[in-house]
Amino acid sequence: MIREDLIWVGTPDFAGRLRGKAFPAAERQRRLRRGVGWTPTNIQITCFDLIAESPFGALGDLLLIPDPAAESRVDYGDGSPPDHVMIGDICELDGTPWDFCSRSRLKSALARLEKATGLSLLVAYEHEFHLKGAQRPKGDAYSLAGFRAQAAFAETLMAALRHGGLVPDTIMKEYAPDQYEVTVAPAPALRAADEAALLREITRSTAARLGDTASFTPLRQPGGVGNGVHIHMSLRDKAGKPATYDPAKPDCLSDVAGAFAAGILRYLEAIVALTAPAAISYSRLVPHRWSAAYNNLGLRDREASLRICPTTAVEPQSIAAQFNLEYRAADAAASPHLALAAIVEAGVQGIEEGLSAPAATEADLTTLSREELDEAGLVRLPESLEEALDRLGANPTVTGWFPPGFVDLYRAHKQGELSFLEGMDPAAICAAYEESY
Ligand code: GLU
Ligand code: MG
Repeated sequence: MIREDLIWVGTPDFAGRLRGKAFPAAERQRRLRRGVGWTPTNIQITCFDLIAESPFGALGDLLLIPDPAAESRVDYGDGSPPDHVMIGDICELDGTPWDFCSRSRLKSALARLEKATGLSLLVAYEHEFHLKGAQRPKGDAYSLAGFRAQAAFAETLMAALRHGGLVPDTIMKEYAPDQYEVTVAPAPALRAADEAALLREITRSTAARLGDTASFTPLRQPGGVGNGVHIHMSLRDKAGKPATYDPAKPDCLSDVAGAFAAGILRYLEAIVALTAPAAISYSRLVPHRWSAAYNNLGLRDREASLRICPTTAVEPQSIAAQFNLEYRAADAAASPHLALAAIVEAGVQGIEEGLSAPAATEADLTTLSREELDEAGLVRLPESLEEALDRLGANPTVTGWFPPGFVDLYRAHKQGELSFLEGMDPAAICAAYEESY
């Protein structure tokens, strides 16, 4: 059969998907300049493929311009077409960023961080997912048997990630039946978000080529174990030196990292709609599920929204470089770009407000009284997507980080998603998200 090499350019959207178009690889140079045509209302295509209320209607034209720094080509060597993917920005016809482009929002948040502090951010996304076809019995958690059951998948996935330009770190059989986790090396923030979007696609593609289906849905079934996305962050100065660690400070958080953490925690209840944006995300973000339920800082505590991760003295020379903060209130229904943009904006806000890090919590927060929570500045995170969207819309500081109309458009998108779910029972809702992610 005749075939022609194609490149698919996609943009991370409000639904946490990449959406885009393909063009002949021979046209790469021209497409790097002029992109492909794009439609404003595409931003309102929900994860269920229905179009939420859109102020743009059928009107308008944009460009989707691929970024050569976000290119991945994976040839699986099985004779099938390679996955040649580029991630791009949505731009106006004059090439300026479109206000509602998630990737541009991340660039703008990172520019704010750099302007306020001279610092940049190094990031690693940790992803949990499950394989739908596997259906292994219970009792496989972290086991060699559970790993071996998917060893071919694991080996192919690690190779595919490496071919795609990522640096695979670990892969493991996670706790729940058929649940796995994959990590990659840290990278500068924008690159890390691009890699997170690519990793999800490469994982789905690898599973599909092996006759299986991978899903990153936040919750597989009601009451089941969650699939989280944990975002590890550390600050670097202009010379690339770590700026998060200061052994003289409480919990070893440098002043700037402490303020960054405090900002995230202060605005967490409003940004969680952007980092954990599915209806079922809020069945994962409950106490005692090793996810996140309060806006607390924790020292190596897997129930904290923001966890100060351990360092190892086995590599003492790199303790400052190892030291990082892990944001745990995220999942793969979120655009990795938009989630990180919101986290960074909140962190910089904390720096600009001169906040200092709260003390790390140690108690089981469900045992604290309302007064004790208030005194420690702790709030229960929203318990539904509706509530999360309300708290997002009600916070003028948070809405002010985004261009006019951005948060309203995002909320309309999510309302469209919620309308689709109306009347469905919890199992059907989980199944719908599983299919989508
Ligand atoms: N599955 C948990 C979550 O929903 C995380 C477990 C872990 O700490 O890796 O985030
Ligand atoms: Mg895990």
